[in-house]
Amino acid sequence: MTFDAITGHKQQKNILLRTIKSNRIAHAYLFTGPDGIGKKMVAVAFAKILLCQNHNGCNNCPSCIKITNGNHPDVHLLDTEGAAIKIEKVRALQRELSLHPLEGKYKIYIINGADKFTTNAANALLKTLEEPQAGTILVLLSSQPETLLSTIRSRCQQLPFSTLPKQQMAAILKQKLELSDTDATVLAALSEGSFKKALGSNRELFLEKRLKLIQSLSALSAGSTIPTFTFADELNAEEESITDILDIFQTFYRDILLLKHNQPENMLVNIDLFETLQRQNKSTTTARLLTKLKALESARFYMQRNVNRKLVLEVMLMRISAA
Ligand SMILES: [Zn+2]
Repeated sequence: MTFDAITGHKQQKNILLRTIKSNRIAHAYLFTGPDGIGKKMVAVAFAKILLCQNHNGCNNCPSCIKITNGNHPDVHLLDTEGAAIKIEKVRALQRELSLHPLEGKYKIYIINGADKFTTNAANALLKTLEEPQAGTILVLLSSQPETLLSTIRSRCQQLPFSTLPKQQMAAILKQKLELSDTDATVLAALSEGSFKKALGSNRELFLEKRLKLIQSLSALSAGSTIPTFTFADELNAEEESITDILDIFQTFYRDILLLKHNQPENMLVNIDLFETLQRQNKSTTTARLLTKLKALESARFYMQRNVNRKLVLEVMLMRISAA
């Protein structure tokens, strides 16, 4: 991917281009912002420009091609996938950075998930940042920069990234996944700007399973104990995606609230369920919707604190159906 081909993040790309043009490239960068919005893509495209034989990240020269294929000897990408980064990794990075670049002018190390350093590893990394070697560039990517050592943060040039606007994201998803306008808009809204979510396993959850989940949820009624417990069982089996499912339920009730207060339709998330939303709107009140939203919120609270999940879900659904 070239800089030009990356949608959005215009300001960030311009800042990086300016540092190259004015020859004021930093030894260390810290890209911050939510997961899955394109920080890594920009970092890799930046590395391409720095090492490109045509000096523009052309995507076609041998250097750019090697970076695309992940086998450029001067570009290293450490992707943590959520696991802790231990000191051995930092030592390997330091050994690597102490060698001269093999092919280009720079040695570039991109670390995705830079908030995952153990204390020892972070202190070791600090040494590298305090005594930078000529020609080495470190790009740290983090969605939780506040958990990094402040001494690490202060030695990096920080570049904050934000999520793309919903419409822009929907346009990209529509093209990439060949979705209808409606599906692309729903997926963009539910993914909250994260392409990682939209393009990954969440796509099926957000587009297909969501309809069934909302149907089961809105079919619950006060006193219908057995369906409530059956549904709690079903949800409990969705270990990985339970937080996203709670998000879906939240958008559903929020949508009804918006309708109730005559907000414009383009603010709704579940636009493909417009008739269901309207029906629900007629049969409920603001106070009842707020009670349901509170039940969701408190379920989230207890689940984060590792209270028995099945029990939490049962209580949540009982409160929702009684409201
Ligand atoms: Zn190139």
